[in-house]
Amino acid sequence: MKSLVLERQHELSLRDFPIEREEEHLGPRDLRIKLHTVGICGSDVHYYTHGRIGPFVVTAPMILGHEASGTVIEIGSEVATLKVGDRVCMEPGIPDPNSKATRLGMYNVDPAVRFWATPPIHGILRPTCVHPEAFTFKLPDNVGFAEAAMVEPLAVGVHAATKARIRPGDIAVVLGAGPIGLVTALSALAAGCARVYVADLATKKLEIAESLAPAIVGIDAGKQSIAERVKADTDGWGCDVVFEATGSPKAAARVFEPLAPGGCVVMIGGQPDPISYDAGAAMIREARVENIFRYAHVFPRCVAMLASGTIDVKPLITRTFSFADSVEAFDIAASAPAVDVKMQIELPQ
Ligand SMILES: [Zn+2]
Repeated sequence: MKSLVLERQHELSLRDFPIEREEEHLGPRDLRIKLHTVGICGSDVHYYTHGRIGPFVVTAPMILGHEASGTVIEIGSEVATLKVGDRVCMEPGIPDPNSKATRLGMYNVDPAVRFWATPPIHGILRPTCVHPEAFTFKLPDNVGFAEAAMVEPLAVGVHAATKARIRPGDIAVVLGAGPIGLVTALSALAAGCARVYVADLATKKLEIAESLAPAIVGIDAGKQSIAERVKADTDGWGCDVVFEATGSPKAAARVFEPLAPGGCVVMIGGQPDPISYDAGAAMIREARVENIFRYAHVFPRCVAMLASGTIDVKPLITRTFSFADSVEAFDIAASAPAVDVKMQIELPQ
């Protein structure tokens, strides 16, 4: 079937790819899904521009894409919760159901997890896929396909806010106004924060952040000290939670500075190399540090918040491309335009 294939670093093509042979088999608890919308993720772009992310190296042609929504077109014999015609979004990582991590409820850290568009597993920038019922979620009528394809990145923010154990009225700081930083800010507000500062160097991204909610306050980190600003607004106390969503070692090195005593830092941004960390600053605050790896058990919560209007991700979707233009879409995404948050690709229906 025609698919967006990363042939090797720097080379993408839209071509027939023989994935049907691997995927013909529809198990009793599987669904066949016609893809509708697929978001372009920073990780997809990174595989295109760098050919690898940490230990995951593209050594053979791989189909990209993992942020997806679509329609069920065929169901396995034991599928009970979904039917043909249901509109759905899909969680892209499938763990081994019998692994110790899965049995402990931490299926996202199962070393055997198979995650779309993480070598050697193919992604879903293609017309159809086969996916387990257990990792597929029905969309209410008022949640569109584009929003539904945002559930995957939103899940990262909701998982981070959950790990932070936010209490109503908390003050949070999000370092980084990329797509993950912004969904984290929205998740922190949904969890009860009174105010969320979003810090970045790009003015345009801060404007987008502030447009999302009155309780989101931008900090231009190139012009102002994040810690000084937060302390000035909190009688010198600091914020309850810092979310590190840049993946920059420089940001991570100073992550405890705006944090109040007893506060929590959540590390979200991927760090391919070891980084330095101010253990003394963490100690004098008795800071709690949480790390997240993707997410677990949050897709139904994300869908419910989109349906109720608790979270609106539509302003984050800044550009939509047709599947035929997907190579061009990736080239634009690789140039990281300041005006864009999330770009998506729509497949022909
Ligand atoms: Zn993603």
